[in-house]
Amino acid sequence: MIKKVGVVGAGTMGSGIAALVASAGIPVVLLDIPGKEDRNEFAKRGLERALKAKPAAFMDPELARYVEIGNTEDHLDKLKDCDWVVEVIIEKPEPKRALYEKLEAILKPSAIVSSNTSGIPMAILLQGRSEAFRRRFLGTHFFNPPRYLHLLELIPTPETAPEVLAEIRRFGERILGKGTVLAKDRPGFIANRLGVYGMVQAVRLMEKHGLTIDEVDALTGPLLGRPNSATFRTADLTGLDVLKLVTEELAQATGEDFALPDWVLRLVEEGRLGEKSGQGFYKRVNGEILTLDYRTMEYVPRAKVDLPELRALRELPLAERLRGALDLPGKYGAFLRELFARTAHYTLEKAEEIAYDLVSVDQALQWGFGWEAGPFKNMDAVGHQRVKALLAEHGLGEPRLLQRAEESFYRNGTYLGFDGAYHPLPKREGVISLKALKAEGKTLLESKEAALLDLGDGVALLEFRTKMNAIGEGVIRMLQKSLEYVEEKGYVGLVIGNEDPRAFSAGANLALILSLAQEGDWDELSLAVRQFQKASMSLRYSPFPVVVAPFGLTLGGGAEFTLHADAVQAHAELYMGLVEAGVGLLPAGGGTKEMLLRFTQELLPYEEADPFEGVRRAFNLIALAKTSTSALEAKKMGFLRDRDRISMNRDFLIADAKRRVLELAPDYRPPLPPQVRVLGSEALGNLRYAVWAFREAGEISDHDMRIGLEIAHVLSGGEGPAREVSEWDLLDLEREAFLKLLGTRKTQERIAYTLKTGKPLRN
Ligand code: NAD
Repeated sequence: MIKKVGVVGAGTMGSGIAALVASAGIPVVLLDIPGKEDRNEFAKRGLERALKAKPAAFMDPELARYVEIGNTEDHLDKLKDCDWVVEVIIEKPEPKRALYEKLEAILKPSAIVSSNTSGIPMAILLQGRSEAFRRRFLGTHFFNPPRYLHLLELIPTPETAPEVLAEIRRFGERILGKGTVLAKDRPGFIANRLGVYGMVQAVRLMEKHGLTIDEVDALTGPLLGRPNSATFRTADLTGLDVLKLVTEELAQATGEDFALPDWVLRLVEEGRLGEKSGQGFYKRVNGEILTLDYRTMEYVPRAKVDLPELRALRELPLAERLRGALDLPGKYGAFLRELFARTAHYTLEKAEEIAYDLVSVDQALQWGFGWEAGPFKNMDAVGHQRVKALLAEHGLGEPRLLQRAEESFYRNGTYLGFDGAYHPLPKREGVISLKALKAEGKTLLESKEAALLDLGDGVALLEFRTKMNAIGEGVIRMLQKSLEYVEEKGYVGLVIGNEDPRAFSAGANLALILSLAQEGDWDELSLAVRQFQKASMSLRYSPFPVVVAPFGLTLGGGAEFTLHADAVQAHAELYMGLVEAGVGLLPAGGGTKEMLLRFTQELLPYEEADPFEGVRRAFNLIALAKTSTSALEAKKMGFLRDRDRISMNRDFLIADAKRRVLELAPDYRPPLPPQVRVLGSEALGNLRYAVWAFREAGEISDHDMRIGLEIAHVLSGGEGPAREVSEWDLLDLEREAFLKLLGTRKTQERIAYTLKTGKPLRN
C-alpha cells in the first residue's frame, strides 16, 4: 500500500507530480538540491511554480500543505517512511545513479523506486544497484502536465517484481487517475517515439509540399482526430528546446533520422522557444497571434485556413473524416497522404520493438497526445487496402504486421497480436464501456436525444446523446420514461452518465428556449420549465437511488440534475457551475432552491448562526455564476456534499457510480420533503442593498442588477415575514423569475450572443 510518496527533483515535472499526488489525498515529500542561502530554495520554488501553474496543478491549492519540502543533503531521511519514491531530476545517468545509491542506503526495504526519465535505458540507471533494489525499481513516465495528460507509461525491467508493477499500476490508475500502458525499455518508450517521429515528419513535409505553419496546423488538428493545438502549437507549448533535446536523444539512441530542419534549430539558438519565451512558431503581439514565416524567419499575420471542403469534413465522424482528408485535392491532400504513409509505416515497423501489443500503442497516443483514436485504429478506419496503396505510392515496403492483419487490426472484441493471432481485448477490471454495452445489445430504451442502458446487476444508466449533452424536451421525456421503466421493471437504481470526452452536460438547450421566447410562446415555456423542475425533483424522490456521474463541463441544467441526485460520483476534473446569470437568467431547474435549502440547512445545528449567511452564500454562487475547477473545489463551494464521492480516473467513473447505486439500494428510502426557512423582506432588503452597491460602484451593469434582484427575490422567498415554505413554493418563484428575465430584450441578446460565440455578453 502506498500511503506516502517521495518526489526527488522539483522542476517542471517533479512539482507537477507532487501536486497531483497531493490532489489525490496522499502526503508528499518534495526534495531538490540545496540552495546557497535558503537551503530549500529549489524545492520551495518548485512548489510555488505548481501553485501558480495555469491550468492549475493542484486540484485545491490548500493541499499544498501536504507537500513537505526539503533538500537532498539535509533531508534525505524524510524519505525513510515513503512507500514510493519517484526520481524526477536532470536527464543524465550519473546524477540519477548517485541518487539511487543514496536512496538504497536509507529507504525502507519495501519502498518502490522509479524514474521519470524520458529515455535513459533502465539498465544504465541500475548499474551498481543490488538485486533487492532492482526488484523494486521501474520506469514511471508521466507526461507534461501530469494532472491533465492521462498517460502514465510504466517500464518494468526483467528484474522488476510483479507485485511492484501491480502496486504502481493500481496506484497510478485508481489513486492518481492515470491511464497506464506498459512499454518496453526502448528509447522514447511508446508515445514519444511515435509522436515525435510524426512531428518531425510533419515539419519536413511542410517544406517539401510548400505549406505554411498555419496550413499544417489546420490540417493536422481535429481533421485527423488530434487536438486543436495540432503540430506547431503543441510544439510551442512543449518548448522548442525540449523538442530539440528529445529529437537529438532519440537520434543518438536509435541511430534513426530525427533531425529537425536548420530553421527550427535557429529558433532555439535565438531563444525563440515557444510559449515560455513569448515566441516560437507563433508569437502573440497585443493579443493578436502572428505566425512564423519560416522562409523569412519573420512573424506575419495569421492566415486562417477556412476552406469549405475542410469545414464539411470536420463535421464527419472520424473514419469518414480521415478518408476524406486523404482524398483532398492539391497540395493539402498530397501532404496528408505522405504524412499518413510515413507515420503508418514507422508505427507498423516499430510497434513490436517498443510495445507488448498494439492496443498499448493506440492507448499511448490517445492518452499521451490527445488523439481521438490511435494509429492502428486510424489504419482500420482508412481501410487496409488504402493503407497498402498509400505505402506503395510513397515507395515504402509493406511491414509484416500489416501483411498479417486480416483487413483489420481490431475485430469483434479481439486485436491482432504480434504473434499473428487475434486475442481477446484485455478486460480492464472496474471499467464499464457504454460503447461495448450498446454493441452487446444492452439498450433498453432509445431515442435520438437519450438512451437507457442495462449496466447489469439491476442497475440502469441514462445517457444523454445531444450535442454537448444539452438538455431539451427529448432528454426530459426520456428521463421520465426511464424513471418509470426502472420502477416498473424492478431495477434497483439508476445512474445518469455518459462517455462524452468533454461535457457531462452544458446545460439546458438555449437555442430552443430562445426560439420559444422569440415566438412569444409563454405558456409552452412555462410548461417546459415546470417539466424541467419536475424532472430534477423526481431524481430525488423516486423510490430507488439515483446516482449522477458528472465530469468535465457540468453547467446549468446539468449541474441542477447533479444537485438533485441521491448521491454523486464525480470525476476529479469537474467544471461545475450554475452559470445561468451569464446568459441573463437564473437557475430554474431547482438549482436556486437547492442551494438555498442546502446552505440554510447546514446552519441549523448552530444556534448562534445567522441564517442570512446561508442566503448570502447561495446568492454569491449563483449571481457570480461561479464554476469549480475540480471536484474538490466543487465540494468546497457546496455543489457536492460530503457524501458525494470522487473518482480520480474517468475510466472507472460509470462502474464506481453503479457500485454506489448497489450500496444505497438495499435500505433505500426517498427523503421526506423538507420545509425551507426563508427570511422574506429582511433578506431581500440586505441583498438589494448589496446589488445596488455593486451597481453604484460601476462593477455591474443595469441588466446584471436586474438579474441579481430576481435571484435575491427567489432566495428570500419573496417579500413578507420570515417563514417556512415548501420546495415547490420556491420552485414556483424560480419559474416566475426565469420567465420574467427571459422576456427582457437584454437577456435574449445575451442568449443569442452566447449561442453564436460560446462566450458571455456583458450588456
Ligand atoms: P527540470 O529541469 O525542470 O527539473 C529538474 C529538477 O531536478 C531541477 O529542479 C533540479 O534542480 C533538480 N535536480 C537536478 N539534479 C538533482 C539532484 N542530483 N538531486 C536532486 N535534484 C536535482 O526537468 P524536468 O523537465 O522536470 O525533467 C525531469 C525528468 O523528467 C527528466 O528525467 C526528464 O527527462 C523527465 N521528463 C520530462 C518531461 C517534460 O516534459 N519536461 C516529460 C516527461 C519526463
